[in-house]
Amino acid sequence: MRKKSSSAKPTNRIMDPGSFLSDHSRSFDAFRYVYPVVSRRSAGLSVGVNVNPNKVCSFSCRYCQVDRGSPAALARVDLDLLFDEVDALLDLAQSGRIFSHPRFEHTPEEWKRLNDVAFSGDGEPTSYPLLGEAISGVQNILDERGAGHVKTIVLTNGTRLGDAEVRARLEVLAARPYEIWVKLDAGTQTYFETISGKKLALDRIVDGIATLARTLEVTIQCLVPTLHGSDPGDDEIVAIADRVRFIANQGGRVKLVQLHTTARRPAHPEIGRVSDDRLECIGQLLRTRLDMPVAIYPGRDWE
Ligand code: SF4
Repeated sequence: MRKKSSSAKPTNRIMDPGSFLSDHSRSFDAFRYVYPVVSRRSAGLSVGVNVNPNKVCSFSCRYCQVDRGSPAALARVDLDLLFDEVDALLDLAQSGRIFSHPRFEHTPEEWKRLNDVAFSGDGEPTSYPLLGEAISGVQNILDERGAGHVKTIVLTNGTRLGDAEVRARLEVLAARPYEIWVKLDAGTQTYFETISGKKLALDRIVDGIATLARTLEVTIQCLVPTLHGSDPGDDEIVAIADRVRFIANQGGRVKLVQLHTTARRPAHPEIGRVSDDRLECIGQLLRTRLDMPVAIYPGRDWE
């Protein structure tokens, strides 16, 4: 049974302006760790959970929209308060009251539904040592609220999946409906270092993804931006497809490949979005190389 926090509770006061699709702000009302998002990808409402308020991440993606130039608002996670916030935001979502908020009032009727709870946020969720406890606690809240059918999603950049302890944090997901979205933006070591901003070994990261995927089904998330006006090119896309095939050939279960481009203002101005037509071509190229579904999510200008 989760404990009730003695900390200040979030209120159900609704005051943030903005449109429901363009505003993916992680700041909503008085909440510190949770935020609501309506997106085309979920075709409904996703409750985001940020277990990295300190903004620590093992990548430094060129397209990241997290502002690491400003100090983090919170240094650590208060798990009891996080659970209280999840409960309060789910209450807003399940009652439908959230859709009277100015940010969500234009949500299409068919999207006025709770789709998932997603561990995402300002860094790498698997780096949070209590991630397993956080997942279990959220799943219990969903059960208590009669929403045990709602899936829990964890987004990860994949850097730590070679670590058995980290994989164990994710294994609790299997108790309920779940998805794991693993970032894979590059197929070659050179482009990987360019786009991730880190000199880590891509081979080892892909090995870690394959190891996890042998136990837990994964969705591969591939974000393709332009860099100084150019996308990574067909050879890089083929190399990404080869990496995904490697994961599948290792016995990994890959449910889906999600192909994205940028849709939010990145930290670096040299990053742009791939046009809808070009993204469709890239998606078709992936489909010719992979024996699995590829979903294409067009970007959006942020000016
Ligand atoms: S992995 Fe995510 S949070 Fe980390 S730098 Fe990349 S986009 Fe930002």
